[in-house]
Amino acid sequence: MTMDTNKRNTMINLKLILTVMIIIFLQCWEATSLSSAPAPSRCIFDEVQKHQNVERTLIKYHPGDVSAKSKRSVEEEANAYQPIRVKTFVQNEEHLMDSVQVEKLETIMAGATSVVQKLLSVYPVQGPLLIDRSEAACRTTYNGGQNDGKCAEISPNYREQCLDNFEIPDDHLEGLWTWDAINSEPAVTHFEEGSGIPNADVVLYVKAEHTTRCNSGDVFAYASFCKQDQFSRPIAGVINFCPDPLLSEEYDQDKFTLLALHEAFHVLGFSTSLFDQFQDCSVCEDGLECETREDVVRVDAGGQSRLHTPAVVAASQIHFGCTEEEEMGVPLENLGGEGVSSHWETRYMYGSVMAPAILQAHSTFLDNMTLAVFEDSGWYKVNYEYAGDFPWGKDQGCEFGSVEYCATNFTQFFCNESISGCDYLGLNKATCTTNIYLDGCKIYWPDSENQCVHSSSSVNLNETGEITGPDSRCFASNSLLEGTCTPGDLEGRCYATRCGNSSESYEIRLLDSDWIPCPAETSIQVPGYEGEVHCPPADIVCKNHSSLVSLVDQPCLTCTTPPATSTATTSTTQTSPGEVPGELNFSLVFNDLAYSEVDEGSEVNDFKGVLIGRIAETVQLTQNRIEILDIIAGSVKAFVCITPPKEGDSQVSPEDAYNNLSNAVMSGEFSIEYNSNSYAASAITLLVVDNQTPTQSSTAMPPTVRSSPITPLTIIVLSIIAALFVTTFLSVCVWKNKKTATTIAPAPGATPREGALPGEVYMVRKGERTRGDMTAATST
Ligand SMILES: [Zn+2]
Repeated sequence: MTMDTNKRNTMINLKLILTVMIIIFLQCWEATSLSSAPAPSRCIFDEVQKHQNVERTLIKYHPGDVSAKSKRSVEEEANAYQPIRVKTFVQNEEHLMDSVQVEKLETIMAGATSVVQKLLSVYPVQGPLLIDRSEAACRTTYNGGQNDGKCAEISPNYREQCLDNFEIPDDHLEGLWTWDAINSEPAVTHFEEGSGIPNADVVLYVKAEHTTRCNSGDVFAYASFCKQDQFSRPIAGVINFCPDPLLSEEYDQDKFTLLALHEAFHVLGFSTSLFDQFQDCSVCEDGLECETREDVVRVDAGGQSRLHTPAVVAASQIHFGCTEEEEMGVPLENLGGEGVSSHWETRYMYGSVMAPAILQAHSTFLDNMTLAVFEDSGWYKVNYEYAGDFPWGKDQGCEFGSVEYCATNFTQFFCNESISGCDYLGLNKATCTTNIYLDGCKIYWPDSENQCVHSSSSVNLNETGEITGPDSRCFASNSLLEGTCTPGDLEGRCYATRCGNSSESYEIRLLDSDWIPCPAETSIQVPGYEGEVHCPPADIVCKNHSSLVSLVDQPCLTCTTPPATSTATTSTTQTSPGEVPGELNFSLVFNDLAYSEVDEGSEVNDFKGVLIGRIAETVQLTQNRIEILDIIAGSVKAFVCITPPKEGDSQVSPEDAYNNLSNAVMSGEFSIEYNSNSYAASAITLLVVDNQTPTQSSTAMPPTVRSSPITPLTIIVLSIIAALFVTTFLSVCVWKNKKTATTIAPAPGATPREGALPGEVYMVRKGERTRGDMTAATST
């Protein structure tokens, strides 16, 4: 070996040492630092809807078939209503979207409409839904004479538009004709009568077009309705998704599905521009009979606007445990003195799907008060059995949520110190803060990137011993692995939990620790760790809240891909979920594989090919029995189907194949070679299809700590680094802890900038920020 080689080797070793030291320093830093908050997003429904021209269509409804009575009984009336038929049309006529975007939109909308159809029933439209053209179609009409009121001349360049110049297909619209002065028959047919939309009570057009409204980067989707029936029920609307968030690496299908549902709820009736058109309807001999409701929104003595309709009042009295307060109602978000927005006031309704900020999907709930709005609109009957529990403010009394209440009551809901901790459900790391939605009240607002229940969260740092996953919860803690850093202030940390049968006691586990009892309202020290963990009550840690996501039908669970939107309902050979006997469906998660590596063009097929090949090899199947139905983001999650053997196929049963594959995944032996890297599957979940509602039945995961190949050279290098590091880490930690303390404790009374809000929000108060001053508002 020459001198030059020795020098080069020494240099390489020094570089290695420096690199690893930097990595360890960064991990040590990160272990107790707050993660940066993701960019907030806004719902601009009110801003969009107020510029939308809305017109009426006379809809044909089934006449009442009861001749003897003028009014039907409650039971008869309920039978007259049918689950709402929502038709979605993903529009890509200008080919602005690639097939992956279209597929995403179809999946999102299929999920959102599956929820709407479970919840709402309507008095059904008779025949195809045919939409009237707006008055603007006609430039001049006859005034008097035999063709009085008829169109003499159509408007130049007329197209029937809704939201951002979206053109409603002519086939969904009535015809358009012009007449001359003397003949009763039309002189010119400009548009033939469309055939309408069969089996539809409402139509949602969906697109992903970059518009100026998307420019700010914090608008993910927006919507507008543009047609109503004769009873004011909205019958047509458009939802536009801004393409960039849809294509982002942070794309989360569950969250976008709830976002679509939120926008759909606005279109269907949850809108300030519709509150004063709410109806009180009954089914009579001639069909529907409706009267406009009065006094829908009231301002209470404290100046708070409340939605004050009968079902909403009743639902809020039950929820907050406030039966003596007749004026209850549910507060709507104020708009800086200009009125109310189409959202609930966050202080009262945090976590509701119709609060202005949808945070993580798993912390978003469907509450009875939101459902009651649809009942009180008069246009819908509501299926309340699907309302999940809504934990925010439950049974907290009549004063809960007021500014006075939050200033003096510091429980799991409101807090007063600007420190890091956990959200009220213990599901997320969070920071006690206020923001534009909270009117000065402070709550533990989730740091979106720190979801304890999300197994792919990047918080598994060895020093803090954190474990994420479905059974993990957030704890106030400053525990650090013995011999690493000096414990700093308490902050939110994710640990695995195990609840006792009675749900009154539980245990926790940190990385490489045993299960340790965590008695409620005590602080414990975990062997092997310095510092302490504070144990919240068992009813926070052990109670499973069923989020709105559980109502969403999962897509693509059969080997025959089901129609993603109702546009494709014509095929009679289509197989419904669960109808093919013997098929077996499961999902495979690859935590370490970025979704961006598989979601472009041919990459999807490359990835599918690699995965099919690897499954076939592992469990001895012929490849034609394996189909990859869908790949969704977060980390990469593939929905896989194994079909029963046909003649000439390998005869392994789907069950045996699944069991063998599951064993391989659990032992960490199932990995794929893709794009020159090896990716081990992190979880496998069997999916049971029961009455078209798929449920997850069991999830298997490989050991938490994956073994990595360690060579003798690595051991030598690490030993040298360890010796060097001991001399430096103490000063590093002291410096880091100082830095952390200043980061998590803003000056008292300081109002966080909106751009720095943790969590993801997508609504802003009108008056505080408008399209015109968006940039200025964000930068202040
Ligand atoms: Zn909204």
